[in-house]
Amino acid sequence: MNNCIFCKIINKEIPADIIYEDDQALAFLDIRPVSRGHALVVPKKHSDDFLSSEDQVLEDLMPKIKKIAAAVMKATNAEGINISTNHGAAAGQVVFHLHFHLIPRFGGDRLTAWPHQEIEPKTRAEIAEAIKRNL
Ligand code: AMP
Ligand code: ZN
Repeated sequence: MNNCIFCKIINKEIPADIIYEDDQALAFLDIRPVSRGHALVVPKKHSDDFLSSEDQVLEDLMPKIKKIAAAVMKATNAEGINISTNHGAAAGQVVFHLHFHLIPRFGGDRLTAWPHQEIEPKTRAEIAEAIKRNL
């Protein structure tokens, strides 16, 4: 039995404020929005998260994310928008069906940015090398 809440929305088993639908993708408003117009874009084909998704699914989704993000911005008069996916519980993922957040941003909205840190160039170079070795 599939207990995925986003699959249930896709299958119309539970309601959502759907803003876009085609054969491969669905977009709907987040039930607990970070800002006005916060939307989620999901592929209809279930995958748990970003890194386990097929390249083709991601390729199909990205232009739709762009189109929907533009509409969300226009509809809300947003000045900016954060487009992101949380991969893994440590990154804040709660629903394990791939989804991209579209979070409209407004000047002075006081949504806190991630803190930046200083880093030694040597440490930065080591991290860069480690990442390159894993590509
Ligand atoms: P994440 O933390 O990246 O997994 O995000 C999951 C998002 O799904 C959260 O922002 C929730 O508010 C949202 N969410 C959970 N259940 C629903 C639902 N039934 N309809 C719309 N959004 C939902
Ligand atoms: Zn699902």
